[in-house]
Amino acid sequence: MNQKTNDHSFFGHPRGLATLFFTEMWERFSYYGMRAILLYYMYYAVSQGGLGFDKPTAMSIMSIYGALVYLAGVVGGFMSDRVWGSRKTVFIGGVLIMLGHIVLATPFGRLALYGSIALIVMGTGLLKPNVSDMVGGLYAPGDTRRDSGFNIFVFGINVGAFIAPLIVGWLGQKVNFHLGFSLAAIGMFFGLVQYVIDGRKYLPKDSLYPNDPIQPDELKRILTKVGLGVVAGVLVLVVLGIFGQLNISNVISLITLVAVMIPVVYFVMMLSSKKVSGTERSRVWAYIPLFIASILFWSIEEQGSVVLALFAANQTRLTIGNFTIPASFFQSMNPLFIMLYVPVFAWLWTKLGKRQPSSPMKFSLGLFFAGISFLWMMLPGMLFGVHAQVSPLWLIMSWALVIIGEMLISPIGMSVTTKLAPRAFQSQMMSMWFLSDAVAQAFNSQLVKLYTPHTEVMYFGIVGAITIVFGVIMVLMVPRLKRLMAGVR
Ligand code: GLU
Ligand code: ASP
Repeated sequence: MNQKTNDHSFFGHPRGLATLFFTEMWERFSYYGMRAILLYYMYYAVSQGGLGFDKPTAMSIMSIYGALVYLAGVVGGFMSDRVWGSRKTVFIGGVLIMLGHIVLATPFGRLALYGSIALIVMGTGLLKPNVSDMVGGLYAPGDTRRDSGFNIFVFGINVGAFIAPLIVGWLGQKVNFHLGFSLAAIGMFFGLVQYVIDGRKYLPKDSLYPNDPIQPDELKRILTKVGLGVVAGVLVLVVLGIFGQLNISNVISLITLVAVMIPVVYFVMMLSSKKVSGTERSRVWAYIPLFIASILFWSIEEQGSVVLALFAANQTRLTIGNFTIPASFFQSMNPLFIMLYVPVFAWLWTKLGKRQPSSPMKFSLGLFFAGISFLWMMLPGMLFGVHAQVSPLWLIMSWALVIIGEMLISPIGMSVTTKLAPRAFQSQMMSMWFLSDAVAQAFNSQLVKLYTPHTEVMYFGIVGAITIVFGVIMVLMVPRLKRLMAGVR
């Protein structure tokens, strides 16, 4: 029996889970701390310590940034599988992330912003999928503790995401944005120190090596492809430049296009591959509507740090007595509700056992809650007008609703993704899951530009309604999807 299965020293789980829990907790602390103040930093006037972007552009950058972070996961998975092994890939990722926050802490304005985005996108792409994958690697195949191991890990993510907006948000909005970003860098530093010291003792040795090291003859082929891709990208930018069209908005649109194309290419590849059997192909077909549902869900969820963040700053009463809370504090609501709901759902699924709804049914319900959370946000504008300052309870309730959806989609989606994956695409399928969030945010980078106080009620109404309609279509498709899933629930 190997050492992986015997270790029960962290709440009944292998001690290495604690290492990964705290690494990811600090990484998410830095990411969500930074994002809690980034929108405000971008659109605040230069005289207020901001960068002076207009609001639609700032919101669009927030979204495309989020898209790039999850798109980069595809590269991160590749580097770990084929080049560095997960242990080293996560470390390099963490260092890049820390540097990214340090750059943002410097007073070099927009240039620092773009440099920081590049570093954090690459760093998170290297770290995030691999730290999650290493959690799976702590357990031997068939170890029944794996699912609850992932639940503990998700809890860690949300502990980091909960604390960060409170501290980084406070420092960033009440004192100085750059101090806030420095704190994000320090958080990532703690994570790294802990990862290195603890990791040496408690992480499995096989994470030190790539699963499927690249062969020299392959290397040339891959480098040629990457080189061609880079040249094509640069050419497009040059052409845009020549026609005087090289601006943020067009670059964002271009990335949106790439983000949408990547999963399409993946699906075509899987459906046409000779390595995929008939049953596996049927499961891939079943995965497509789930993937689309997931895009719709993350589109609403991720607007919490963009559209709802704007609502928090401009249309929410922030003073309690003579105390003003920073708008960034609201970013703690999403992870707070996750932490509150995790035990409830764990209890519910155990209690329902075999009687629990199928994954497609849970997805439909998830979409319903996400949609309702937006329809709910039509009310303050309708009741009090879009220039009033309303009670914080409106926003808090909206998060309470959308996070019920997250409980029905996020963990279920991850597990059903691994179950529906064709054998030949097993490891890439996990990056596919993160791609649904990437596509959602790429799509948001266009959508959020339509949100203004003027369009607010209609905006929440239409986005919410479309999501619910798709949820209803999914309910109707459940029997068919179950058949296509061929035995997977
Ligand atoms: N909010 C979660 C995180 O940061 C989930 C993201 C996702 O699964 O797309 O880890
Ligand atoms: N709910 C997000 C994720 O699970 C965290 C956040 O958006 O703050 O981790």
